[in-house]
Amino acid sequence: MKPADLPALNIADLQSLLRRREVSPREALEALRVRVAAIEPQIDAYLSLDTEDALKQAETADVRLPLGGVPIAIKDVISVAGQPCTCASRILRNYIAPYDATVITKLKAAGAIPFGKTNMDEFAMGSSTENSSVKLTRNPWDRTRVPGGSSGGSAAAVAADLAFGALGTDTGGSIRQPAALTGVVGLKPTYGRVSRFGLVAFASSLDQAGPLTKSVRDAALIMNAIAGPDPCDSTCFDRAAPDYTAALGKEIRGMRLGVPKEYMLEGIDPQVKSAVDAAVRQFESLGAEIVDVSLPHTDDAIAVYYIIATAEASANLARFDGVRYGYRAADAKSMLDHYGRTRAEGFGAEVKRRIILGTYVLSSGYYDAYYLRAQKVRELIRQDFAQAFAKVDALISPTSPVPAFRIGERTSDPLQMYLADIFTNAGNLAGICGLSLPCGFAQIGDAKLPIGLQLVGPALDEERILQLAYAYEQSTEWHKHRPPSLLGAATESVAA
Ligand code: GLN
Repeated sequence: MKPADLPALNIADLQSLLRRREVSPREALEALRVRVAAIEPQIDAYLSLDTEDALKQAETADVRLPLGGVPIAIKDVISVAGQPCTCASRILRNYIAPYDATVITKLKAAGAIPFGKTNMDEFAMGSSTENSSVKLTRNPWDRTRVPGGSSGGSAAAVAADLAFGALGTDTGGSIRQPAALTGVVGLKPTYGRVSRFGLVAFASSLDQAGPLTKSVRDAALIMNAIAGPDPCDSTCFDRAAPDYTAALGKEIRGMRLGVPKEYMLEGIDPQVKSAVDAAVRQFESLGAEIVDVSLPHTDDAIAVYYIIATAEASANLARFDGVRYGYRAADAKSMLDHYGRTRAEGFGAEVKRRIILGTYVLSSGYYDAYYLRAQKVRELIRQDFAQAFAKVDALISPTSPVPAFRIGERTSDPLQMYLADIFTNAGNLAGICGLSLPCGFAQIGDAKLPIGLQLVGPALDEERILQLAYAYEQSTEWHKHRPPSLLGAATESVAA
């Protein structure tokens, strides 16, 4: 295989070349570097590249390990020792992570090589990556459009073959929605399945790290590396993780899939709707039984999410005070002036909006009316899912109501932006698992834009949604489509 063709491989295929010694980890990394040098200026998926460290690790990588010698891109909210961890915020512009997050320790133990930190919405707040204080990331399918967010850099890197696979985080949809908008696979694990130690916290009761990959099998391979207990995170389940590849390829005949009636709303793009309808029929033809279910509190999810997530964010982000981390305003006249100016200058508009909202809903007099009530409705949302899962094995829905929107289209209207997570954030509130995978394309003008299908499973049932996703993926061709504008670009640039 020519070096220029290597970056297009998925993790599983790269692994078999590495294990047969047809390619060395160094050659794989080198091929990726060349591709990034050629294509990254069109996409802007990365905030930093840790090429030297990565090369050192490639020299000694053991290809017999589960992810031996495989470079993985990391969202810039996850600590990698010695590398920048900026959360795409001015306030952490010069911050270097002093230690590895547990997910990074585990990835390294599995032989993977962290390669580069990816762009994101500042502190993971957003659905388009436009809230990055550094730069825009472009959707590889149409560079006038957003890649989704907040893990937009990770998603775009995987879609554009600028990464073999990536880690993102998902607080309300930030792995699944960008996966849907860029045509890749994204898995949000059950809350507590993957350690949060070393992630910069946004909303601690909702955040989870997970894979963005080119295939369902790759998502299972990354889960095998990162899932499991962690003494450094007491919210982690104290239960060993299974082998997530074990159920791949097993029949799905007789499994029951629920279609939530509240999710087929008006306002959902007709092309998205027809792709998801077709996917439902495809599952039927694979022997799954389709059942109508109801999630009665669906309408409340966005409001509840934006109370709980902002409340937790206002507390978590209090630590950025210019004393201990990152940016510090110059010439402060007093301590309060120092805090005020550091935060005014260091945080972007959306982060400030969330801190103000979160502080408000927690303040005395409003706490009961907003925060406490939101916690109660959160419990009702949890019960909705529990009742649905008493009848079905998994739920099926669109991941996002619309395909990738245009850069700038929603930035002036935060509420429009918040609605991007209408199908995903209830899963975070309920603490369950969800996966997005490609299920078709929308034709909008000249643009061919990926559509994502969401499969949602009960807590700790990642195996099942991976099994369902794999059956669907293997019986369709959607995952074989590549972003057209980038085809051949690497080869040309390498030759030039
Ligand atoms: N878009 C949602 C928000 O802005 C979700 C973000 C996320 O999952 N990190 O909060």
